[in-house]
Amino acid sequence: MKYISTRGQTAAKPFSEVLLMGLAPDGGLMLPESYPQIDEVTLHRWRSLSYPDLAFEIMSRFIDDIPADDLKDIIRRTYTAETFGSADITPVRTLGDGIKIQALSNGPTLAFKDMAMQFLGNAFEYVLKRENRELNIVGATSGDTGSAAEYALRGKRGIHVFMLSPEGKMSPFQRAQMYSLQDENIHNIAVEGMFDDCQDIVKALQNDAAFKAQYHIGTVNSINWGRIVAQVVYYFAGYFRATATNEQKVSFCVPSGNFGNVCAGHIARMMGLPIHRLIVATNENDVLDEFFKTGRYRPRSAADTFVTSSPSMDISKASNFERFVFDLMQRDGGKVQALWAQVEGGQGFDLAGELPRIHEGFGFVSGKSSHADRLNTIRRVFAEDGEWIDPHTADAVKVAHEVREAGETVVCLETALAAKFADTIAEAAGEAVEVPRPAALAGLEDLPQRVTVLPNDAEAVKQLIREALG
Ligand SMILES: *Cc1c(COP(=O)(O)O)cnc(C)c1O
Repeated sequence: MKYISTRGQTAAKPFSEVLLMGLAPDGGLMLPESYPQIDEVTLHRWRSLSYPDLAFEIMSRFIDDIPADDLKDIIRRTYTAETFGSADITPVRTLGDGIKIQALSNGPTLAFKDMAMQFLGNAFEYVLKRENRELNIVGATSGDTGSAAEYALRGKRGIHVFMLSPEGKMSPFQRAQMYSLQDENIHNIAVEGMFDDCQDIVKALQNDAAFKAQYHIGTVNSINWGRIVAQVVYYFAGYFRATATNEQKVSFCVPSGNFGNVCAGHIARMMGLPIHRLIVATNENDVLDEFFKTGRYRPRSAADTFVTSSPSMDISKASNFERFVFDLMQRDGGKVQALWAQVEGGQGFDLAGELPRIHEGFGFVSGKSSHADRLNTIRRVFAEDGEWIDPHTADAVKVAHEVREAGETVVCLETALAAKFADTIAEAAGEAVEVPRPAALAGLEDLPQRVTVLPNDAEAVKQLIREALG
């Protein structure tokens, strides 16, 4: 299995190389040169597998340059009941209104990003050791991604993490989650500035080629192929949990931002998993909803991106969306390159003529949710089911309700736990409420914290990295 770029100008590469890559040299994203096809007999056999065994079956069809026993070992160490709260890893439950919820958020940071990041941490460590390489991750976070990366990479050999966050701008829970890590390879840096300032510093470091090469600087962002492939697994797991036989079809409703999560669903469907529809749910930042309704893709500027109460979906450009468009364009890299030249030129593009293929062929539909919708949904689910759902998941439940057809089984992906968003839950409830939190996180805010405060200055961050790496 070799990987190619969505822009068609990069030589095919093996998995281990793609794992450590960001963008392809031609500016595109890496994808397998074809999707493995799963026949009915295989699908039947997979139904009874445990999550780690299923993960091995699926991932080994994409990864052929890590020996099977080693890959099995990486996967076994990743998907444990200890890390994800139950042997099921991603249990499926049914709400009173018949909508199913697949829990992807019982990992260490209570968000679905752990599903992929935990695998990435172990896979990075393995490949770096084999190739006698080091990697120093520099990132900026306003909360979720940074903590998932830190929990995935803590204590890993050959890896350091330098995570920039805006001083005083995260919730006490988010701060405690990151800053309480005592591992020597985790470096929390609170920058005297905003999230955008943190991102600018990361860009400045990335653009300093000499520094980047000398200190082996890399990133773990949502375009990483290793994350997507790990996410394909839970669509299969969710399908098996939500059905009794492989004759049934299931639709997945996915709270979306950068299109990484639902991109994995698209790949599962292309492999032959009986997915009826892929329902893309957005919040007020609705670039994707607009595309799936009209065929127009019009990314916005950061200034036109709303700050919402489902903050992990506050994006204006969906960084993984190009992977789907590559398939939509029948894998013509030249066409994708031309479309993204229009995106970079600020016009975006219009594929209205492709809407029938997008809807009927690829099964995509969409919907959006507002702050008021989110609060209403959180309240309604609590009234009917006695449980608080997180704001991102609520966006999906709202949209699922709206688009559900008679007899359709819809699985909403739960991308975070309500415990992370106590303020929004209180707003929905009209009063402060106790939102249950996993026992392991009791008293998190009282643990000692480890963080270095630095001025909003790239040079100060470089100096800290130089000193830390000796
Ligand atoms: C990252 C995230 C999303 C969006 O996922 P994408 O892969 O970017 O589409 C949704 N909900 C939560 C809680 C997240 O952390």
